[in-house]
Amino acid sequence: MDCIFCQIVAGKIPSEIIYQDEELIAFRDINPQAPTHLLIIPRKHIPSFAQLSQAELPLMGRMVTVANKLAKDEGIAETGYRLVVNYGEWGGQVVPHLHMHLLGGRRLSGKIG
Ligand code: 5GP
Ligand code: ZN
Repeated sequence: MDCIFCQIVAGKIPSEIIYQDEELIAFRDINPQAPTHLLIIPRKHIPSFAQLSQAELPLMGRMVTVANKLAKDEGIAETGYRLVVNYGEWGGQVVPHLHMHLLGGRRLSGKIG
């Protein structure tokens, strides 16, 4: 098991976990790009959204639901926030375990890429 995020799920690598349920966990990014920078991931190792099966597709919706809840908990819901999911080398994905970034707490750049 050499996946960093699988090791975080297993508790083998410490992280600041701020949400967990049967399917998902959320923790603070080790290299935050904004005052709030959380990662929401499935417990199950799925390389990316591009590999999601039809049966797994509802996971993405659940990740958005959790992100919206955590944005409220973090106090960034009113001012707005950004959800980012990267895929592949040119898409900027570094960790090959599906994850959604929740960024907020400052005015983010208007640029997408
Ligand atoms: P990606 O570029 O793959 O979309 O994002 C991966 C994210 O994981 C990066 O923002 C990076 O800072 C974060 N990250 C990488 N390793 C660790 C770790 O061991 N712990 C935590 N909390 N975040 C990590
Ligand atoms: Zn993994």
